[in-house]
Amino acid sequence: MQTHLADWIRNTPNGAEAESILRACVHCGFCNATCPTYQLLGDELDGPRGRIYQIKQVLEGATPSAATQLHLDRCLTCMNCETTCPSGVRYGRLVEIGRATVDAQVPRRFAQRLHRDALRFAVTRRWLFAPAVRVGRLMRGLLPARWREMLPPARAAGTWPRRTHARKMLLLNGCVQPALLPAVDAATARVLDRLGIEAVIAADSRCCGAIDQHLGATARAQARARRNIDAWWPLLERGEVEAIAINASGCGATIKDYAHLLRDDPAYAHKAQRVSESARDLAEILPELLQALAPHTSAPLPDALRRVAFHPPCTLQHTQRVRGAVETLLIAFGAELVQVADAHLCCGAAGTYALLQSGLSSQLRTRKLENLQRETPAMILSANVGCLTHLEGAAAIPVRHWIEWIDTVLARDSPRADPSKA
Ligand code: SF4
Ligand code: SF4
Repeated sequence: MQTHLADWIRNTPNGAEAESILRACVHCGFCNATCPTYQLLGDELDGPRGRIYQIKQVLEGATPSAATQLHLDRCLTCMNCETTCPSGVRYGRLVEIGRATVDAQVPRRFAQRLHRDALRFAVTRRWLFAPAVRVGRLMRGLLPARWREMLPPARAAGTWPRRTHARKMLLLNGCVQPALLPAVDAATARVLDRLGIEAVIAADSRCCGAIDQHLGATARAQARARRNIDAWWPLLERGEVEAIAINASGCGATIKDYAHLLRDDPAYAHKAQRVSESARDLAEILPELLQALAPHTSAPLPDALRRVAFHPPCTLQHTQRVRGAVETLLIAFGAELVQVADAHLCCGAAGTYALLQSGLSSQLRTRKLENLQRETPAMILSANVGCLTHLEGAAAIPVRHWIEWIDTVLARDSPRADPSKA
């Protein structure tokens, strides 16, 4: 696509990057076919090709309107279009530049700003969010339906392993997941423990910055990245941990992007690169390690565990491009995976999207749950806290993280499955 960027952006790093992305797009429209918002709304301006064109116009000097902002807001940043595009157009980077440019020129209404800022403030601070979750559960009946749906019932996390091991991996000291679904971190720690790996949480680490980044607060996201890097760096530099093991694919995608986020910060660029390279989703770490345990769990699983549907989050399959590993592992451990139509499509959670674009989000969830539940599985498994809570809010069957499923299966057969007792 030919471009003639406006003088104010042409010779900037963002301008150069946007120009190279725009030039790669041949305007073929293949990406529209896999775009969830284009499928729902049928409007070219709510598909990737139309969004690319709108961003191009703005970067070439056209004045954006509130409608332009809305079309960009409606994008889930699910990256389905990126993995579909035959020309390798990096839509994710372009929409980030486009959103920042449009937001700088189109002031949001006060109520909208307040909503977005309140979300960023409340959700990313565990000292505030965790008590709010507890109070919310006590007052569940009084909450608006939308909030109620996003608040899964409390369930026991189980014990945290006490053994220490020479092999160690860092776990993220996140914001939403420990408050909403503490069972996920505990299950991760138990499974790692069985493999002779100690899960370490650096006390000073915090929220990964994904929510700030999604809501356009880049400086705040960078500050969060620096804090986490400071917390993890001594352990990484001394070689005391093998990896940063991430069990929320949205956080993993963000931490893998720290290198890009801090690329212009001379004090942190090198460290951010190392941290990004050390971040691995559980789906990248565990399948190979766990295969050794799979034969020990050959006893048939009960119906309530055996038949499962797996929902691969967009941040796992499209952003991190990790595909098929979890499914293969589940089958090795005795799962019967049901077929799920349109597995490449977003469930509508997408960070804060479920709260900011609730109508579209609900429609996507309804479609996703129809597809996930069509073959009557006993349980839905996924890999990201946002998808898990969003789906659980309307599912007719239990929704769990796949690591919880593995932990449960291993616990059934504990004496044989635990290598420390071999
Ligand atoms: S982003 Fe890719 S798939 Fe979409 S219109 Fe451009 S070249 Fe075609
Ligand atoms: S990121 Fe997802 S919602 Fe946004 S344009 Fe691409 S496919 Fe559509």
